[in-house]
Amino acid sequence: MNKKVMSLLLSLILVVTSVFVSNIVAYAEEPSGGLKVTATSNYFPKKSTFVANSEEYVTVTYFINSSKDMLDTQWELKYDPACLEFNNAVNMNEAGDDLNLMPSVDDLVWKVITNEETGEQTGRIEANAHRLKLYKFAGKGYIPFVTATFKVIGSGETTVDLFVDILTLSRLGSNFMTDPAEEEVIVDFGVINVTPTVPSRETAVHSGLYDPHCDITAPVISGIENGKTYCDTVEFEVSDNVGVANVKAGDVELSPTNGKYTLEKGIGTVKVVATDKSDNTAEVTVTVNDGHTWNNGVCSVCDYTCVHKDDSSNHTGGTEIRGAKDATCTEEGYTGDTYCKGCGVKLSTGSSTNKLSHDLVNTPAKDATAAETGNKEYWHCKDCGKYFADEKGTNEIKPDDTVIPKLPPDIIKGKGQSITTGEKKALSFTSNAAFNDFIRVELDGKTLDETDYTAREGSTVVILKADCVGALSAGEHRIGIVSESGTAVTTFTVKEKMTADNEIQSPQTGDNSSLFLWTALLFISAFGVLGRTIYCRRKRA
Ligand SMILES: [Zn+2]
Ligand SMILES: [Zn+2]
Ligand SMILES: [Zn+2]
Ligand SMILES: [Zn+2]
Repeated sequence: MNKKVMSLLLSLILVVTSVFVSNIVAYAEEPSGGLKVTATSNYFPKKSTFVANSEEYVTVTYFINSSKDMLDTQWELKYDPACLEFNNAVNMNEAGDDLNLMPSVDDLVWKVITNEETGEQTGRIEANAHRLKLYKFAGKGYIPFVTATFKVIGSGETTVDLFVDILTLSRLGSNFMTDPAEEEVIVDFGVINVTPTVPSRETAVHSGLYDPHCDITAPVISGIENGKTYCDTVEFEVSDNVGVANVKAGDVELSPTNGKYTLEKGIGTVKVVATDKSDNTAEVTVTVNDGHTWNNGVCSVCDYTCVHKDDSSNHTGGTEIRGAKDATCTEEGYTGDTYCKGCGVKLSTGSSTNKLSHDLVNTPAKDATAAETGNKEYWHCKDCGKYFADEKGTNEIKPDDTVIPKLPPDIIKGKGQSITTGEKKALSFTSNAAFNDFIRVELDGKTLDETDYTAREGSTVVILKADCVGALSAGEHRIGIVSESGTAVTTFTVKEKMTADNEIQSPQTGDNSSLFLWTALLFISAFGVLGRTIYCRRKRA
């Protein structure tokens, strides 16, 4: 208790000194510029925030995160009363029965120092607290150590400074009182001691009213690791000292199932942001692939080795046959290779299967004729369409190789015919060539005009017209019926007439008829038929 009184006295001396040695600077002559508020301390880190002109209040909070509880403290908060005004109304605790300067200390002794004569604030708040049963700090994460809200009355720049004079931490002993063996004087008359326990500290300057009960501890994302790539759906958890407000993967808000959040397989790279009720955030960026990235049975991402089992309990989903092929009569078949459906590794190589035998149809040999081709005996496969010279289907041949050409044609009717000069008698010749193969008729080696004969099927019948025959000179004539398979040739004879009268009269029954014939001849010549005979002769000449 003696030490306590000593420290109070010393702090009063310090306070008096600080009135004269004020390090607080204000630029109240800049009314529209807002106010930059910097929180400083001999024990807590320095923080600044710019408070816009439109904002009425500013709150300065010094946070502590201690593994031990507090035995006592004494501090002084200094501010520039030209810029900031400490307002009791906005600094009340929740019960409304005291100021909230140390939210974790419910029996704080405090004093806002005012000028005794004018009653105006001097810019100093002094406080101390002491409890043998200790103030509960441990296990709470960051808690507000000192917090104060000021009304902004100036602009420019100003500083709020927390001078910690005394801070002693401890733990309860068996009698529920401080255990002297656990006591550590962290700050001793404003000097920070080197102690086994080093509490974490944080400072925050908030524009406006700020509930210092809000935590500054970010949520914790567990179960996924920043920067890591996963091969399957992954679950993670989010915890927070106060409470999780939301968890987002990219733009999508996730909702937990049995306390776990899920990132589905194949969503790719996402930033997971967890936000707590005080807007503290934690983020983790992960990639979730759509399955493993196989490289010869081992995942190049997660090193998982495929077990290759054809087992429904195995995620790889069994095996499959690839490249199987049925045999045909021309090509061997293949049983196919066995692959792991999961990782794509080839597990076994297949084997070839024998060719099928040809499905052969026999065609017997057939002799050729002048009208039709013949063929050698051959076998034809109905499946592959190939031709073979043997019934085993080993000696392949071309279809053309089986064909026996047509025989050269002969005159089979009309050989050796004989007529007399001037006799107008149609002469018929028959070649045994197919009529389809007929090309032309040659008389004495020259092509005969188509108007001088008729040709018809049977096999090939050529009839030299009577007019043409009648115009032929005496002697032996050679007729050739030209077909694609060759020329059937024969001769016929035009005999010299003994006398013109005999020739004309002898076969006739009377003068009238021969007279009629001559008349008819004259008549026909008028229509150019005679001219045609001459043409026939001329062509042959
Ligand atoms: Zn939190
Ligand atoms: Zn993997
Ligand atoms: Zn596999
Ligand atoms: Zn075949």
